Amino acid sequence: MSDCLFCKIAAGEIPSNKVYEDEQVYVFHDIDPQAPTHFLVIPKAHIVSCGAITAENSAVVAHCFEVISKVTKDLGLTDFRVVSNCGASAGQSVFHLHFHVLAGRDMTWPPG
Ligand code: 5GP
Ligand code: ZN
Repeated sequence: MSDCLFCKIAAGEIPSNKVYEDEQVYVFHDIDPQAPTHFLVIPKAHIVSCGAITAENSAVVAHCFEVISKVTKDLGLTDFRVVSNCGASAGQSVFHLHFHVLAGRDMTWPPG
């Protein structure tokens, strides 16, 4: 999608602090970290949010979780939280599907 911040980051058109990349996904540090470790896992294909996952595009979502498992292992993280905000009132501010991965501090529940 031409006017999407995360599509531009995945394409390398906007700089980011990359953690991992393959053909399907891009992983980069959040610009405003909410924990000592906070990175985002995004499909390179534009999907608006968890609410736009279908039978046709869901394979990349499984791959995102494989990547989360691999990258957290590589970073030595055993305890971490995965969050995806869906819709503005749930906290979504960038409308390209992304999974926050947060680690390095105790997490509270329920989230605010
Ligand atoms: P959301 O609010 O949609 O759940 O998450 C969007 C996340 O993207 C936020 O945590 C925000 O800090 C991060 N973010 C917004 N703009 C940029 C950017 O230009 N670069 C990076 N690395 N992260 C960004
Ligand atoms: Zn996009």
